[in-house]
Amino acid sequence: MQERFAEKMAGSDARSDTRLLGDFTHIYCRGVHAGAHRSSLVSDGAELGIYGSKRPEVCTECADLLRYAEKRRAFCPKDPKPFCSYCDTHCYSPEMRERMREVMRYAGPRSILHGHAIDGVKHLIEGRKARAAAARSAAESTDKESKR
Ligand SMILES: [Zn+2]
Repeated sequence: MQERFAEKMAGSDARSDTRLLGDFTHIYCRGVHAGAHRSSLVSDGAELGIYGSKRPEVCTECADLLRYAEKRRAFCPKDPKPFCSYCDTHCYSPEMRERMREVMRYAGPRSILHGHAIDGVKHLIEGRKARAAAARSAAESTDKESKR
């Protein structure tokens, strides 16, 4: 494991973001890849204890996605980092981005039903904040325009 990975993953935001992706991918894989052989995730992040004692149970394909997501999260150049879905830097490859988007789309609403209410709500709030900030800066610029 790279030292820098462990260092970056020591932050509580990096850990909780990654744990959320783990939860989401677990829900997605259980629902969408029901026929696949699934096992506890083996990854650097899991080794660091990011997922606690309940590692995501995923197929090999989803395990690849999570290992990829861990690395992208650890080496994110943004600080403070916005929630990935609202980040303007697209550090995922188009293929991985599409896969993660599918996971989010499937698991996001279901996570609220499955007792991940806090994470699901956090996701919604972050989205609202991002939209509100965008609306505010748009409003401010029109405000300035009209005062001229
Ligand atoms: Zn899967």
